[in-house]
Amino acid sequence: MPTGYRSELYQEQYADRICSLYLSGLTVAQIEQETGWHHSTVSRVLRSRKVQMRPGGMVGRRHTEAAKRAVGEANSNRVPGDWWMTTDLYIYEYQPNHPYANSNGDVRQYRLVMEAKLGRFLLPEETIHHVNGIKYDNAPENLELFASRGEHSSHHAPIGRKVSNETKQRQSQEKKP
Ligand SMILES: [Zn+2]
Repeated sequence: MPTGYRSELYQEQYADRICSLYLSGLTVAQIEQETGWHHSTVSRVLRSRKVQMRPGGMVGRRHTEAAKRAVGEANSNRVPGDWWMTTDLYIYEYQPNHPYANSNGDVRQYRLVMEAKLGRFLLPEETIHHVNGIKYDNAPENLELFASRGEHSSHHAPIGRKVSNETKQRQSQEKKP
């Protein structure tokens, strides 16, 4: 399972997905809406790949029927194991047959890593803590399992103890467990 978020593979998959969405008809704005990547990032990747830009790319935030089809087509080119980082710094992996995949067929990669470690699927209420606070560091030894969101929170802020600034900062980074 890939965990080297800095790897060229990651950079390549990220650029491939942006280019394939654009070439299949989405506007830069629609790609931003679809992936959560900022439009300036999308434009930069397209320029760096020397993709021929269409005029009026930032007009229209709604998905047209053609855009929806394009997303479907781009998705159909994906293979299980494809992964990328969202703008909130979580790595998602495409695993369409996973029982808890979202409607796009994606699963947060740290859950997959923990599942491989445990040899079972995680329950929806089970949450994962990133020991070093870096939420894209999905190395097995950096992941700690909590039975619930509540247990995870109390790990961050033990009852009766003042919450350190460090913990507060970490919690604000970990909007989702
Ligand atoms: Zn945590």
